[in-house]
Amino acid sequence: GAGKRLPLPESRELRALAAAMNDLLARRDEAADRLRRFTGDAAHELRSPVASIRVQAEVAVAHPDPELAQEVLADVARESQRLSALVDGLLTLARSDAGELPAASAVDLSVAAADAAVRCAVADGPAIRVHAPPGACWVYAAPSEVDLVLDNLLRNAVRHARARVVLTVLTAGRAARVVVDDDGHGIAEEHRARVFDRFYRVQDDRARSSGGTGLGLALVAEVVRRRGGAVRVGESPEGGARFQVTWRTASV
Ligand code: ADP
Repeated sequence: GAGKRLPLPESRELRALAAAMNDLLARRDEAADRLRRFTGDAAHELRSPVASIRVQAEVAVAHPDPELAQEVLADVARESQRLSALVDGLLTLARSDAGELPAASAVDLSVAAADAAVRCAVADGPAIRVHAPPGACWVYAAPSEVDLVLDNLLRNAVRHARARVVLTVLTAGRAARVVVDDDGHGIAEEHRARVFDRFYRVQDDRARSSGGTGLGLALVAEVVRRRGGAVRVGESPEGGARFQVTWRTASV
């Protein structure tokens, strides 16, 4: 059962063996805890859009009124979208947890960044400026992973920025990096260590009106780390948040 540990015997070899075994048991307990927490959080997160859809549908059935029905349907559509995003995110994490990796190839970060900036720009929203070195900047990853990273970081930045988002692509030795800066309110120090955790949200954002799933940054960290890359969050010289993702460069 959880928490049981072997007593440490006299012999040095046996002590080392027992200590290694205890370490293994501790790691197993931690993994079981993580899984329990994740399953509980996922159920909790799925519950709220499902409950909302159910209540609205019941109200609409009980009070047939075409005007109300329009409103209810718009809300049901929004909640359904959030539900789809949640389920998609959970599936991606489950595949990754199971060790399934999409096929990697050389991806040009500069081209992917320019495309993502076009995809994530919103009319009347903050301007997205892209700085990339001349020529290609190859990283070794699946194209879908690079798009997931860029889309999540850019959409967050656009959501929180006042006027400006800056996306920078650069190379440093055998690594290539994207930096996403915004001029929003930033992320307070005490939240930084946890924003990449599954379902973690900065307090003020808890209101899910933003349509977020709490999985965006967890997915970013997952797809980057499993390729040996790294993610970082900090303060931007623009005044808001700065997110950095580093990948190994691909030799072409
Ligand atoms: P969600 O999909 O709910 O936005 P994320 O994993 O993408 O979840 O983000 C986690 C938390 O970090 C959220 O509470 C979000 O508001 C906050 N956050 C993410 N990016 C930024 C940013 N550029 N500026 C300020 N807060 C941010």
